[in-house]
Amino acid sequence: MNWLKSLVAGKRSPRAAVRRIPRSEHPISRSQFTQGTLRTLYGLKDAGYEAYVVGGGVRDLLAGEAPKDFDIATNAHPDQIRAVFRSCRLVGRRFMIAHVRWGQEVVEVTTFRGAITDEHERDDTGRILADNEYGTLETDAFRRDFTINALYYDISDYSIVDHVGGLEDMQRRIVRLIGDPETRYREDPVRMLRAIRIANKLRFTIDKKTAAPIPSLAGLLREIPPARLFDEVIKLLQSREAVANLEGLHTHGLLKHLLPMTDAALADERDAAFIRQALTNTAERIAGEQSTSPAFLYAALLWPGVAREYRRLTEREGQHANVAIVQASEKVLAQALHHVMIPKRFSLPMREIWTLQPRFDARQGGRAKRLLAHPRFRAAYDFLLLRASVGEVPQGLADWWTRAQTADQLPPVPSADDEEVSTDAPRKKRRRRRGGRGRRAGAPAGAPPDGE
Ligand code: ATP
Ligand code: MG
Repeated sequence: MNWLKSLVAGKRSPRAAVRRIPRSEHPISRSQFTQGTLRTLYGLKDAGYEAYVVGGGVRDLLAGEAPKDFDIATNAHPDQIRAVFRSCRLVGRRFMIAHVRWGQEVVEVTTFRGAITDEHERDDTGRILADNEYGTLETDAFRRDFTINALYYDISDYSIVDHVGGLEDMQRRIVRLIGDPETRYREDPVRMLRAIRIANKLRFTIDKKTAAPIPSLAGLLREIPPARLFDEVIKLLQSREAVANLEGLHTHGLLKHLLPMTDAALADERDAAFIRQALTNTAERIAGEQSTSPAFLYAALLWPGVAREYRRLTEREGQHANVAIVQASEKVLAQALHHVMIPKRFSLPMREIWTLQPRFDARQGGRAKRLLAHPRFRAAYDFLLLRASVGEVPQGLADWWTRAQTADQLPPVPSADDEEVSTDAPRKKRRRRRGGRGRRAGAPAGAPPDGE
């Protein structure tokens, strides 16, 4: 970011609130935008409106990262946007967004938002309810969350407009909320999650004052509709920065409000290793442009809770494995659903991945063959590999199932002694954990361990 150094150093007059960086002094070129973005920008401009690229697209290009998409802001009102583009659809209830379609590509266009005033209807935690006022570029800039998200690329002269000191923060590599942090989090608690995600994506630091109120306000996440939280959790954990994001959520006290059982599991060394390994695999698959599934991810995040309950039911209550795993799965899923919504299309496969795990123990004849033919075998087998990689089941068991898939006949089952070495560590762990559970007698299910 050398271009920024010369730009920021000494040039800014303290009174100048708004700053315009001409094309010659910043690195963003039109050729970096998508075709649909350019057509939308020019469509608006040619119809006499202002049009800017703003948000993550500008931020990521300035940071040298590949943007996910480009959002457009304009002074045209939604009905005016629709009059410009035949392929425009208006969506959204709280604040209308225009979707302009160019073949496969859909470009999001929003009208500048007006300033937040005391007139705005809020709920009793400070969250803004009704929000339909339109405004100018300046009011729009102050409504955005972080300074680095409020930089506007102007299609009329290719300059960048900065009202909030976003360019300095780009250079300092800081994620900073615009305005008073506590007020901004109360307006929309999801900003706490966005701070962590954006900081990790760019390897920036969260400004001290922006980070400070998070632990005490983390409970506000409970006010957010579960469907929105589900999307945000997926954005955080089904990403290349999944491991760092999980750490961030945990250390800022957010994870216990999203996935309390996952948060509690991090206190156990092997459970934490299991969750990290699952996130590392996900991140590697994303980096390799392989598909990943939210069902597998959630199955892994909640597995330590399922496994614990399964052990309790089988070891303490003497339940049959197949019954115990179903009950443990139902219980953990029901608890998780208090905090985040998990759509049925994901919770059904999750349950199958879990309930198939004890069936890997049966390695003979018909039962093994039926398991191999199960439609969810592949995901459940990948899950078994994950468990083996942290020593939860013997590697020999996983290897056997690897061979079983390609062999004409089921491979011979090694004697228990051959697999003894790799089961040693988990057994020790189990004994220790049982003691821990005793100490926590009376704690509600899913509660974080003492001292958290
Ligand atoms: P990415 O697209 O990489 O996930 P982004 O910052 O572009 O990150 P979007 O959800 O696409 O995220 O939002 C686009 C822009 O809208 C943001 O950059 C920001 O300016 C604004 N914005 C998004 N969410 C909020 C919010 N909760 N509060 C205020 N402004 C927001
Ligand atoms: Mg975006």
